[in-house]
This record gives sequence, C-alpha cells and structure tokens, in this order.
Amino acid sequence: MPNVRTKRRIHMPARIRNLGLILLALIAAVVIWMATRDPTLITPAIPAMASAELRAASEALTSYDVRASFQPGSQTLTARERITYRNTTGQALEAVYLRTYANAFASEEISPAAASELYDLCYKRGFSPGGITIISATIDNVNAAWSYEDDAGTVLKVEIPTLTPDSSVVISLTYSIKIPTCAYRFGMSNGIAALHGALPTVAMWENGEWRLEQYYPIGDPFICDCANWRVELTLPEGWSAAASGARVADSPLTFEALAARDFSLVLSDRFVFSQAEVDGVLVTAYALTAGEARAMARDAGAALRIFGGMFGAYPWPSYDVVVADIPFGGMESSALAMISISSAANAVNRERAIVHETAHQWFYAVVGSDELREPWLDEALCVYAVTQYIQSAKGEAAFGDYVGEEIEPSMRITIPRGVTIGSPVELFASWNEYRTIVYQRGASMMLGLREAMGGEKLNEALRLYVEGAKFGIADREEFMDALKQVSGSEWEWFLVDYLDTYILGGW
Ligand SMILES: [Zn+2]
Repeated sequence: MPNVRTKRRIHMPARIRNLGLILLALIAAVVIWMATRDPTLITPAIPAMASAELRAASEALTSYDVRASFQPGSQTLTARERITYRNTTGQALEAVYLRTYANAFASEEISPAAASELYDLCYKRGFSPGGITIISATIDNVNAAWSYEDDAGTVLKVEIPTLTPDSSVVISLTYSIKIPTCAYRFGMSNGIAALHGALPTVAMWENGEWRLEQYYPIGDPFICDCANWRVELTLPEGWSAAASGARVADSPLTFEALAARDFSLVLSDRFVFSQAEVDGVLVTAYALTAGEARAMARDAGAALRIFGGMFGAYPWPSYDVVVADIPFGGMESSALAMISISSAANAVNRERAIVHETAHQWFYAVVGSDELREPWLDEALCVYAVTQYIQSAKGEAAFGDYVGEEIEPSMRITIPRGVTIGSPVELFASWNEYRTIVYQRGASMMLGLREAMGGEKLNEALRLYVEGAKFGIADREEFMDALKQVSGSEWEWFLVDYLDTYILGGW
C-alpha cells in the first residue's frame, strides 16, 4: 500500500492547508482503491523461499510439473502434467494408479454435489457435467496403455515397464478438464472457478495395496501423501489465481509447493486482494470486495499466529484464503483455504470459517490422516482448535458462549444407532448427521480430554502429535501416544468411550 507524505513544511493559510490535506487523502484513497481493485496494477508480492526444513521434507517425494492454460469461456483447463513417481511400495510395479476425481462430476447419478441435500445449492440452474479427458499418456516419451478401473472414471491405471522398488518413472499426461457450472469445491459459479482435486494425482499406497475408494458425497473422502508441485499457469488478461503454492514467478505465472498435501487453484477475474506478513508467511486474501479481502487477511493472519504458537510453526512460505461459491463454510487445501461467499460477507461466520480452515493446515496438511476411515482425526481436532483460538483471542466468556452454542447441543440429541464419532465417512447418511457427530461431538470429546488432563497438557500433546507425524500420515495410535507421552497415562478407555461406543437397543 503506497505511503503518501509531505516532505517539506510549507507555511500557508489554514483553509488552503486543509483543502490540500483533503485532496491528498482523496488521491491516497483512489490509489489504494485502484491498487486493490485491479489485480494487474499491483500483483501479490512473491513470498520468501521455502525453508531448509521444507526442502529436506520434499526430498524423494512424488513430483508434479504442470503447464496449464485456463479458458473461461469454455470453462476448461488444458494441461500437460509430468509426474515423477518413485516406487516406495517395496515391491515391483507394473502399473501406477492415479486419481482423476474430476470424473466424479460427469453425471447426476454419481456427482458428490448432486446429493439430495446439496443439489439445489450446487446446481442452481440444473445439472452441469464436468470431468477430465485424457488426450495422451506416455512413459519416457513412449505411448502408455491406460484405462479406467472404476465405472465413474476416478481411478486411472497407467501401465508401466516393470518398476523395481526405489526406482522412478516419469509419466506424462496431456488432458483437458471441463469445469462444471456448479457451486462446489470443483466447479465454476459466480465468476469463480474452484479446482479442488481436479489435477490427476498418484493414488495412496498403503499396506500392500492402492487406496481407490469412490468420491463419497459426504465428508472430504481423500487420503494423500505429500508431494512437490510446480504449476505454470496461463490465464486470460484480468484473471488472477489463489493457489496451494507460493508464487515464484510472474511470467509465466508459476507456483511452487514443496511437501504439499494437495494442490488446489481458485481463479477469477473478480478478485481483489489484501496481504499481510505473519511470522515470515505471506498471507494473501482474495475476495470480491476490498473490505472483505482485508478482513480475511486479518483473520487468517491471527489464526496462523495463534496456531503457530500452539501447534508449531506453519511450514510453507505462503497461505492463501480465497472466496469461492461453495455450500460449506469453507474447504481446506494445502496452504490454501476456500471460504464461502456467504461466510465471507458476515464477520462472525467469516472468522469462524477461516479459523477452522486454518487449523486444517496443521490437522490435514502438515499431519495427514485417513479422512475416509478416521474423519474425526482432523475435523474434531480442528473444531477444538477453534475453541482454543476463541479462548486465546477473545477470552473465557467468548469461549464459554461458543462451546455452549456450537458444541454442547450435539451431546443432547439422539443420534442414529451404530454411528459414532469414530465412524468412517461411508456410514453417515447426511452432511448434517456427519457434522453433528464428527465435528461437534468430536470436539466435545476433545473438551472432555481437556477437562481430564488440563488444557496446557492437551495442547502440548497436540504439538507433539504434529511434530511426530509432520508431512506424514497419522492415526489414532499416534494421537494416543502423544497423549500418553505428556500425561504419563493411558487414554484408550476414554477415546473408545467417545469414538466407538453406542448403546444397543431402545428404552
Ligand atoms: Zn474441517
């Protein structure tokens, strides 16, 4: 933001001086308005380089090198993607499985945005198909055989020459992604294109097999290893991009993300932005008005600072918060959070959505978890983190109010038999049920733990949990180990009680 100041003291009549000051203020206001209005006038500053820790964490990870170009008229992203995959499975492979989640949006029958409770919110003008068309797949410049392994086309099998353990292969894809007209984390609505999970990624290998679950309509049904991304993006004049990576070059526009959990993009020609630097991290907020962008940057900065102190330093050089037309308050990605247009417009909802999504930078992005089988492990921890933010930033009374309004009611209602906080995502029948049980009852469990072991000790355990599983994938065992390490006690009985127990039969 430019500074306007007078260098010399000039004696002049008070009225002229006042007029001069008013004129200067007007010029300053216009300059600031133009700077935030037109993203081509001043582009967001390029953040600091990745830290030595991040560079070390990035070694030997799968890397993605993408050159993409966006065409807003046809709502398409055409790209060439080179994947350097190292075989860490411990066995020889004849094929690599990729996730092509965009294809889950091809038809009404399977689209996660077409679930009955979301349909009208997402497809405001009726169903609109999206998906990915693979144009070519090559291995070392030789055409490779590929096929979809599931009816929905979200599992892409690429055949490769035998790949022995610890050797690498380079898979090159060219493709075109059709972005559906849909107010969802993958979709275009209100002039904003959200690309979550749209770029093909290598499936997760776990316990001797690939994880190839369907794109469930409830929860965030993903599990992924960290990877390195370099994405060059060609956008039409006037368009700007929020991304899961730090902007490292302007021409061509290039993002780099090391040890990132995923890579999302949000594009618009309507964005204005605001920036803040927080503990060496460049925070950029993209919104539809300058006021909202400033408030979002401020809220995101406050959350980064508080959670950095509680759970350990945020490791990436940039963090983007960006409005998107989505039916949830927000949606997390690595180094990026989407905030719904409606949340962004309301101060309380905006702050809560940003704080929750920022907590996911620790409990999802830094420490991954199995969001299909153990969704509580990131969601319950994030809602608990929101309570800790409120207590730290706004005091005890606000903390009590939030817990009383947002968390405690979930413990007083009857929930369907057999569904518990620890249930996998596939057992939940609706978003509402999922949110009440996994988010709110899950946070109630965390507050119970806090009561039993003390807030300081619990936050220390969470810090230990983050440090111990940084850039990896954790599960309940690692969470329990961290609790035991700081308290000296076993907590399995407590967790089983909340996570797995339900009452059989009726009254
Ligand atoms: Zn969440």
